[in-house]
Amino acid sequence: LGEIRSGEFAREWIGEDEFAVLSLAGPAPGADILRSALELPLRIAGFDIHPTLSIGAVQALGGEEAPEAAELLRRAEIAVESAKSGGRGGAAAYGRSLESDGLSRLALEGDLRGAIGRGELTPFYQPIVRLSTGALSGFEALVRWRHPRRGLLMPDQFLPLCEEMGLMSELGAMMMHEAAAQLATWRTNHRASGELTVAVNLSTGEIDRPDLVSDVTEILKRTGLPPGALKLEVTEGDVMRDPDGAAVILRALRKAGAALALDDFGTGFSSLSYLTRLPFDTLKIDRYFVRTMATNEGSAKIVSSVVKLGQDLSLEVVAEGVENAGMARQLLSLGCDYGQGFGYAPALSPQEAEVYLNECYVDGAAPVKARG
Ligand code: C2E
Ligand code: CA
Ligand code: CA
Repeated sequence: LGEIRSGEFAREWIGEDEFAVLSLAGPAPGADILRSALELPLRIAGFDIHPTLSIGAVQALGGEEAPEAAELLRRAEIAVESAKSGGRGGAAAYGRSLESDGLSRLALEGDLRGAIGRGELTPFYQPIVRLSTGALSGFEALVRWRHPRRGLLMPDQFLPLCEEMGLMSELGAMMMHEAAAQLATWRTNHRASGELTVAVNLSTGEIDRPDLVSDVTEILKRTGLPPGALKLEVTEGDVMRDPDGAAVILRALRKAGAALALDDFGTGFSSLSYLTRLPFDTLKIDRYFVRTMATNEGSAKIVSSVVKLGQDLSLEVVAEGVENAGMARQLLSLGCDYGQGFGYAPALSPQEAEVYLNECYVDGAAPVKARG
C-alpha cells in the first residue's frame, strides 16, 4: 500500500485522468457508487461537461497468488482498457483472457516505443493504375508494422496509438524517406519506370510540422527524384481546418518539388472556391462513393462531378477502392482515368511490388502538369 501511495510510483502508473480506488471492504464498491460520485456534470467556461467513467476492476487477494502492487495496477489498467474498448462508460473485470487479447493497448505501447528506430514499421506499396489500360502509374505507400511476435499489423491497429504517443512526425519522416529511396531504386533499375510516382500520406497536423518542407527538399535532392515523382496525400479535413495556412504550406511543398493529392475527396466539406486556389495535382475519390456508385445514384453523380471538376481544373482523378472489373468499367464510363484497389492489388511488400513492377506495363503517358 505504501508503495502505491508514494508519489513517484503513482505518477508512473496512474494516468492524469485516472483514479485508483482500493477497497478494503471485500468486493469493490459498486460501479453505481463510483459513478454517482464522479459523473457529476461540470460547468467549464459556460459549457456543461458530462464526464463518463470507465471502470476496470481487479481482485487483489483471494486468488491463488497475491500479486505485487505494480502488477495489480497493471492488471487494473488492462481491465480499464478493455472497458474503454467497449465504448465510453463501460466496466470490465480483469481476467486471464484479457492478457491474451493480443492487441491490448498497453502491451503494444511498449512494443511501439523504438519500433520505428528498429525498422519494424515499413511502407507497403499499393499499385495505382490507368483504368483504360491497366498500366501501372504509381504506388501509394501504406504503413505496416512487422511486429516481431504478432506478425503483420495494419494501420488501424497501431496508428491511433502512434498518435497518442506523439510518434506521427517520426513515422511520416520515415515513410517519406523510405518510399522516396525505394522509388529512386525502381526508377534506376527497371525498364520504362521513368514516370512512376509514389504517394505518401501526411497525418493530421503534419502539414504544420516546421521541418516538413526542408525534409522534402532534402529527400528529393538526396534521391535525385524529379519534381512530381514524390506525391503527398493530404485529407480534405486537414486542409479545411485552416485553408489559408494550408495554402501557404502546400505552395511551398509544391515549389520544393512534391506533387499534391487531396485524399478521401468527397467526405469533407471542401469549399470548391478554395480548391481552385490550392495547388493540388490529384483528387482521390473516397472509396465509399466507388463502393456505392453501382446501386446509389447519388454516389454515381458525385463520382462523375468529381471527375468533371478534375478535368476542369486539370487535375488527375484517382478512384480508391476499385474492387472488381465492374467498378473499373463504370469509373471509365464516368471519365475517371486512374484507380487503385483490391481488384488490381492490395498494398504489397517491397519484394511483391517489385514483382508486380516487373510483370506489368508501366504507364508512360501519365500527364505531368505544368509546374509553378
Ligand atoms: P487511405 O489513405 O485512404 O488508404 C487507402 C486504404 O484503403 C488502405 O488501407 C488500403 O489498403 C485500403 N484499400 C485499398 N484498396 C482497397 C479496396 O479495394 N477495398 C477496400 N475496402 N480497401 C482498400 P490501410 O493500408 O489499412 O490504411 C488505412 C489508412 O491508414 C489510410 O487510408 C491512411 O489514412 C492511414 N495510413 C496508412 N499508412 C499511413 C502512413 O504511412 N501515414 C499516415 N499518416 N497515415 C497512413
Ligand atoms: Ca491515402
Ligand atoms: Ca484515401
